[in-house]
Amino acid sequence: MVSYVKYLKCSRCGKVYYLDQKPIVCENKDLGRLDIYYDYKKVKEVFSKHILEKRRFYMWRYRELMPVSEDKNIVTLGEGGTPLIKAKRLAEELRVKNLYLKDETRNPTGSFKDRGMSVAVSMAVEFGYKVTVTASSGNAAAALAAYSAKAGLETYAFVIEEAGYGKVAQLLFYGAKVFRVKGLGKEDPTVKMMKLTYEKYGWYPSPSFGPFNPYQIEGPKTISYEVVEQLNWNIPDWVIVPVGAAALLTSVWKGFRDFKELGFIDNLPKLAAIQSTGNPPFVRAWNEKAEAFKVKPWPKPETIATGLEDPYPWDHDGGLKALHETNGVAEEVSDELILKAMKMLAKYEGIFAEPSGVASLAGYMKLLEERTIDRGDTVVVLITGHGLKDPDIVKKVSGDAPKIEPKLEDFEKTLRERYA
Ligand SMILES: *Cc1c(COP(=O)(O)O)cnc(C)c1O
Repeated sequence: MVSYVKYLKCSRCGKVYYLDQKPIVCENKDLGRLDIYYDYKKVKEVFSKHILEKRRFYMWRYRELMPVSEDKNIVTLGEGGTPLIKAKRLAEELRVKNLYLKDETRNPTGSFKDRGMSVAVSMAVEFGYKVTVTASSGNAAAALAAYSAKAGLETYAFVIEEAGYGKVAQLLFYGAKVFRVKGLGKEDPTVKMMKLTYEKYGWYPSPSFGPFNPYQIEGPKTISYEVVEQLNWNIPDWVIVPVGAAALLTSVWKGFRDFKELGFIDNLPKLAAIQSTGNPPFVRAWNEKAEAFKVKPWPKPETIATGLEDPYPWDHDGGLKALHETNGVAEEVSDELILKAMKMLAKYEGIFAEPSGVASLAGYMKLLEERTIDRGDTVVVLITGHGLKDPDIVKKVSGDAPKIEPKLEDFEKTLRERYA
């Protein structure tokens, strides 16, 4: 099989590339992203709703809309195909009717980043690389390390000093060489190390943002494909997306556009971009109507949502366009509200997500209060990462469980004291 990619085009300077050039970063080094354009006419000839009915429900069922040319190069751990859960108890609590949760915590390494890294590592294999390198707050690195392990590639991971231990533990066990890099807030220190090393050693750059790794954008776009299928070929009114680099936002938008191009849907849902008040450079750019590529980095990121702690939103150009073209909004939420959302999601729906993974739910709660979103709207909230990724946060908030002697009296006494 050949891929249906027509060409790639830099989102900043417009320079065009073809797959056989094995492009990754724009030669003009202007930090544009090489956006991937498909031949939709050809895709339409071989890809239909009917064909999808017969395929397994996971990410590679959308094979024709992926950039990989040879099936043998696909590196998969069974990512995607995550459930779209109709919230019942949480919806009652929030007094809303049509709330759906796209549970991305169920991916192989516990976050949606698996989708992007499955595509990226497949491309690394296709292009003949033996070593991958990344800059990350943890989840993207953990995903990269897992897929690299599966493919037999070596991985170097530069993570932020604050990366949650759950993520670092994964990295170490998948066999990556991991470094916590100091100095968040100046020049993005993990990105600096990634650049220095791939330029010197010729490694495959594989972070979860577009300017250095265009192919991974094609992974999370399948979240949108799945949502459309799970809603019986309908779109919701809103999709709520947590934002760090804004690659996920750019990608989710692309997914809906792909399906519109193919005639599977007529419109796009409105997109809501959510950041933490401790690091909201993208929300600020949106509110100030900043021009693309003139966005200022946030000087001192500080939030419990460490997965959203990118001081510079690398894919802001795609993200800002996504909001413009879908009539969307951007909103910031406090760490306090994120924690509240985290507890509510666990308590009412049985889903344990990390702070970055529920910032979207916190954003939804705020947008309801502000009446930006109507209580009757059909809303899909993306739950992007697993709660076990960051056990330190949980311990800080809820403490540890009490120890008791194996006696009824001690149980009853401790029950009154601890859980009254
Ligand atoms: C990376 C990440 C995000 C944000 O995605 P971006 O593409 O950086 O905007 C959200 N949630 C979790 C759990 C993440 O790991």
